[in-house]
Amino acid sequence: MLRYLTLFFLLTIVTVRPQAQPMGQQTENVFIITLDGMRWQELYGGAVDSLMTDPEYVKDTAQLLALFDAPTPEERRKKLMPWFWSTLAQTGQLYGNRWLGNKVDVTNFFWFSYPGYNEILTGYSDPRINSNSKIWNPNVTVLEWINRKPEYNGRVAAFGSWDVFPFIINEERSGIPVNAGFELAEGNGLSSRELFLNELQPTVPSPWGGVRLDAFTHNYALEFIKKRHPKVVFISYGETDDFAHDGRYDHYLKSAYHTDQWIGALWSYIQSDPYYAGKTTLLITTDHGRGTSPKSEWKSHGKTFEGSNAIWMAAIGPDTPPLGEIAGPGQHWQNQVAKTAAAFLGLDYSNEQETGAVIGEMFNKR
Ligand SMILES: [Zn+2]
Repeated sequence: MLRYLTLFFLLTIVTVRPQAQPMGQQTENVFIITLDGMRWQELYGGAVDSLMTDPEYVKDTAQLLALFDAPTPEERRKKLMPWFWSTLAQTGQLYGNRWLGNKVDVTNFFWFSYPGYNEILTGYSDPRINSNSKIWNPNVTVLEWINRKPEYNGRVAAFGSWDVFPFIINEERSGIPVNAGFELAEGNGLSSRELFLNELQPTVPSPWGGVRLDAFTHNYALEFIKKRHPKVVFISYGETDDFAHDGRYDHYLKSAYHTDQWIGALWSYIQSDPYYAGKTTLLITTDHGRGTSPKSEWKSHGKTFEGSNAIWMAAIGPDTPPLGEIAGPGQHWQNQVAKTAAAFLGLDYSNEQETGAVIGEMFNKR
């Protein structure tokens, strides 16, 4: 009898879950990932012919066509974002293909970056967030809300290419480490790769004042994740927006491709690390869309650029049914990301303002 009791006791110990998850939910770690100003048009249709062949926007049109041209939108998008259109499309979900009637929009009034990131991370739009200035966010983000919980405290981290993220996430108040802009990796026990990135970054000119190249953001994030195993991670890639503003369609497309490959590499890493494998969900989206017509408006976004409120989102993880590209009528909103991210951890996020609802379709058991 004692032997059976001991066995029962051991089984009880090993089956205790680390937190109160709804029955059957597997996610213990959530990563929110953004590609700044990446249009739904390229995500779902691949490179646009008339832009790829325009010497005003492309230095070497023959090279770009060789990389990204194909006869159908389905083939073109697979060339542009191969991980999205293999692994993610086969085992996750993609929302916002307006050609199929599926819509995702921002609810904020501005259609540019800080209001978008505020909406993604707090779950509501705030008319006070009406510029991209370095203003400490008065709102508490879902990252900060989670970080305040004892079981997650110190297990939340953020990485961004844009130097406004320490303000958006309110690094001072939230205590969440934010490596953004041209910041180096800090702290004791830096890996050899972090030391090398710290050596390299100041020697590589960035085309922009407040935004670094995404290779630094990605590799700083990946090294930190391997070393410290944060449970909640925010990563914002920035090149897609800045190269578009520069009118460089070639660079915009190549950045989309590289970011796809980086997220794919991160996903592969997650599956190789027992701490994360089978227990980690990625939510991927963008802060705003871009204009569509006339032709030059792809470069810009904001209230005067029609269509730049149209965005997309995607999810992949152990709790998300593999529905792939969602076809048919549907409407989701940028303000739903925060509450959905928390729900993957079994947490019921709320804030002083009403937030967007959990996206139930992203879960098996709802
Ligand atoms: Zn932006």
